Amino acid sequence: MNNELILACDLGGTNLRMATVNVKGEILHLVKLDTPKAKHPAEIAHLITEAAKQCRTAVRRFGTVRALAAAVPATINAADGIILKSPNVPALDGFRFSSIISNELSLPVILENDANAAAIGEHAFGAAKNFQNAVIVTLGTGVGGGIIINGNILRGINGTAGEIGHICVEQFGAPCGCGSVGCLEQYASATAIVRLVRELADEYPNSVLRGKTQITSFAVYQAGIAGDELALEVFRRMGFYLGAALADLVNVLNPEVIVIGGGASAAWDLFIKHVREQIRRHAFREPGETVKVVRASLGDDRAGILGASKLAFDQMI
Ligand SMILES: [Zn+2]
Repeated sequence: MNNELILACDLGGTNLRMATVNVKGEILHLVKLDTPKAKHPAEIAHLITEAAKQCRTAVRRFGTVRALAAAVPATINAADGIILKSPNVPALDGFRFSSIISNELSLPVILENDANAAAIGEHAFGAAKNFQNAVIVTLGTGVGGGIIINGNILRGINGTAGEIGHICVEQFGAPCGCGSVGCLEQYASATAIVRLVRELADEYPNSVLRGKTQITSFAVYQAGIAGDELALEVFRRMGFYLGAALADLVNVLNPEVIVIGGGASAAWDLFIKHVREQIRRHAFREPGETVKVVRASLGDDRAGILGASKLAFDQMI
């Protein structure tokens, strides 16, 4: 197995990363590109196959590439390798990913949802390593989730399990891209942090965030660190809703660990006490005291890639 390699691709709304990975989870070569604002899936497929060829050539002396595994921001049909719905890269809706990429590269192709891939990555190599029951939440543009039960990713009958971002936390809350309202994603994502600042700004006339046209979740975090009351209230709400949803998961799944990652988890210091408070408040005593709540350790740029490669190695063995 030592000289067997996998091409692992993480296709995000912003970046496309392609890497060659060995069985130990070491990245031997990495290519990072902008995801094109493509109208046609062939444009993205072409970019993926070119990046794959480049990664394959670069590692020729280290071993042989056996498969390509891709993590995509979409609901997928894993068995047939088809992308069903991809809200952030709509050109890929309905795209027969595996068969087309497989023909181009003459390699087996494995397809996985990005949040599931990140969960598998954290379970194999990161903060959920050595735990058999884990919940992994990614706070990015949206809120992604993956659930590990007895060491395996939970897929559900349609392959759509683990959509933690779409737990309803506010019955008459903000509308969500999924068609529902009041989803966790609308209160705990980077996008939600910025929206909450705008919604609450009038109540905080002294906030440094008032009147700013361009706000990022990181700027809100920096304001919070400096003691800005508006920023602190936004992260209190974020932690409140995230904690309430996680308390439900603690009661339902009794996990050993909850891992929180993604860009918006940078504000950990400002929201985590509110998360823990809600878990204490709502979860049953024993599972609530047992569960560890920790930060993801692989980083956004590696979790999906390592998870996808792990899936491929497992299927090969
Ligand atoms: Zn939703």
